Amino acid sequence: MPAFDFKIEKQNEECLARLGEIKTRHGKIKTPVFLPVATNASVKALTSEDMKSLNAEILMANTYHLFLRPGLEVIEAFRGLHKFMNWQKPIMTDSGGFQAFSLGFGIEHGVGKISNIFPDEAVGGPKPKGEKQAFVSDKGITFYSPYDGKKIFLTPELSIKIQQTLNSDIMLVLDECTSPLNDYDYTKQSLSRTHKWAEQCLKAKESDQALFGIVQGGAYKDLREESSRFISSLPFDGIAIGGSLGKSKRDMHNILEWTIPLLPEEKPRHLLGIGAVEDFFNSIERGIDMFDCVSPTRLARAGFLFIHPSDGGTMKNKFRIDIGKSGYKKDDSPISESCECYTCKNYSKAYLRHLYMAKELSYHRLASIHNVHFFLSLIEEIRKAIKEDSFFELKAKWLNF
Ligand SMILES: [Zn+2]
Repeated sequence: MPAFDFKIEKQNEECLARLGEIKTRHGKIKTPVFLPVATNASVKALTSEDMKSLNAEILMANTYHLFLRPGLEVIEAFRGLHKFMNWQKPIMTDSGGFQAFSLGFGIEHGVGKISNIFPDEAVGGPKPKGEKQAFVSDKGITFYSPYDGKKIFLTPELSIKIQQTLNSDIMLVLDECTSPLNDYDYTKQSLSRTHKWAEQCLKAKESDQALFGIVQGGAYKDLREESSRFISSLPFDGIAIGGSLGKSKRDMHNILEWTIPLLPEEKPRHLLGIGAVEDFFNSIERGIDMFDCVSPTRLARAGFLFIHPSDGGTMKNKFRIDIGKSGYKKDDSPISESCECYTCKNYSKAYLRHLYMAKELSYHRLASIHNVHFFLSLIEEIRKAIKEDSFFELKAKWLNF
């Protein structure tokens, strides 16, 4: 029995949307799927039991952060993350490549994954510029630990070794995630490095864990095409598409349209670090099977709670309310009348607003439960629509056109 398998159960006839099933060592996952992010082996403010109750199928954990803290010797003592965090369903781990960007050019350029032109990225305003804390060379990425200043040199081999110790079900290759502000020459040079690292990661793998390659190339068509062909030619179990994804959502759609037709049909495709209502529809339509994003929990903590179109959610209000607004002071209704989550069944907007204003810790848990439930149930609704041949009807209902 292979440790990893992907089968396509249904292909939409009018677009690239498809239904599938991934088999891992820790169970099966229905695709399209959304992976809540458990950066430090925890989805922020939530427990592994919460994630089970929310029917999360798979979580994404972070190689760089877990390597720094608690460190490999702790995870090793538990023979991996599953036992350590008491989560027996599948886990995917990133490679640390994204931190080369978020702690490198991301700081120097003061930008997010899709440049800050994008409102979803701009919670709390534009990122302040600062000095880089990550440095990329052909051999690997140099980081300085924020805890003790210790120098860490992350090579493709070390990234795989860490992910093998974490014992995730799906690993990602080490790559360099470039900045939307990197020019063509830098992106081209970076891409040849990323491709070399992809081969090194394959060679370094000594376990039966699945390994996904990553397509890079910024917002440059020829580089994205070159990367799609190269990564597709290697024996990966699945393929991820990494950022930078350009300076606008249109750029992101272009990147998907250049990339996906060149990828092998029989392998799952993961769009790294993206998660907004319209992104799910637009990316699934273009052939994406998997997503991960910190947005549901990050936005919850910032006071933004998601709402369905039947509760007034639109593209204009980004399908969310700002619970801090004074209008909710005496509002005895739940965040969403149609929501089945624990928070909506038990608490009013007025109470949640009070907890938020009073900075009560329980606010984080209740708000995160609702937002994660919203994302997971939206993806479930999309899966159902693909199955029933009503994907475009559902898309029109949500995006209102
Ligand atoms: Zn709810």
